Amino acid sequence: MKITDVKFTKIDLGSRPVAWHDATFSESSLSFPLTQIFTDEGLIGISPSGNSKELIEGPLKEMIVGEDPMYMERIWNKLYSGWCHPASSGWEIRALSAIDIALWDLNGKILNQPVYKLLGGDRDRVPAYVGGGYYADGKSNEDLQKEMLEYIDMGYKAVKMKVGRISIKDDIKRVKDVRDAIGPDITLMVDANHAYTSAEAILFGRMVEEFDIFWYEEPLPATDYEGGREVRAALDIPIATGENEYLRWGFKDLINNRAVDIVQADPAICGGYSEWKKIAAISTANNLKLAPHGGGNIGAHAVASLPQGLNVETYPGLRAAGAKVMKFFEIDEGDILLPNSPGLGLEIDWDAIK
Ligand SMILES: [Mg+2]
Repeated sequence: MKITDVKFTKIDLGSRPVAWHDATFSESSLSFPLTQIFTDEGLIGISPSGNSKELIEGPLKEMIVGEDPMYMERIWNKLYSGWCHPASSGWEIRALSAIDIALWDLNGKILNQPVYKLLGGDRDRVPAYVGGGYYADGKSNEDLQKEMLEYIDMGYKAVKMKVGRISIKDDIKRVKDVRDAIGPDITLMVDANHAYTSAEAILFGRMVEEFDIFWYEEPLPATDYEGGREVRAALDIPIATGENEYLRWGFKDLINNRAVDIVQADPAICGGYSEWKKIAAISTANNLKLAPHGGGNIGAHAVASLPQGLNVETYPGLRAAGAKVMKFFEIDEGDILLPNSPGLGLEIDWDAIK
């Protein structure tokens, strides 16, 4: 079998009902990215990820057309090192990641097995949590409480909220109000989206400890390993980070600096499943668990592939809007159920996409 073509499409899902903000970023639209790899035998590998048409249909496609899609390590290394000026982070690695994930989907279809079993195989359902609690213009703490209770009504047992955009004092009140609303039995995480200095991160972390926080996510910029070590040493809350870290070498530095408790490598960002497996090996060698950032369709296969896979992120708003073009994995009592169909098991509505 040979690869014949690679395509990238970004499907516009329209405006969000309300524009959201995290500590450092704002977004008003919804979209669904799709990377496809075509073969001479008719099988197509897909990934619901990717970023740049220019990169994916340009230099990256050129490097892999004619390759046997089962030579995944060969292809990965070609995509990584086949540049005049190689990249170790950013858009090139995200584009590489999309191709690698589509190749795992394709290999699953060739071998008639789901990706999580090809990656290792540990279980067929994984805990999901809601990545929510964003800021929005005019959103009150009561609105935030109502949002969190809606997730619990949907069956989720774990929710995450944004912090870091406003004053520490006002954020502490938001966290307190959410904990009061959801009660003691629901798991609560906070995510600062790299907003803080290490001094601010420690101050906030100490003030929020009393609200039983399961993890404190990305307090610092991804490049601040020394700060990360200080924050982790100063606090009792586990530190989760890694959604803005790339490749095994980046995670080696993060982990060697003792700056992380829960490794959030996202296969769609860090270099694909091929690279995630290597990051998982470094993590588990350091007795750390993994909880991939990002939409559950990709992360669920990674988490289900090994016992140290902790949980997976999901976005109910994106699930609802994305249902126009793809059947998202089923959720049962807060767990994502892995499909037993070959590859990623994604059911795309091609007519809707057209
Ligand atoms: Mg995050």
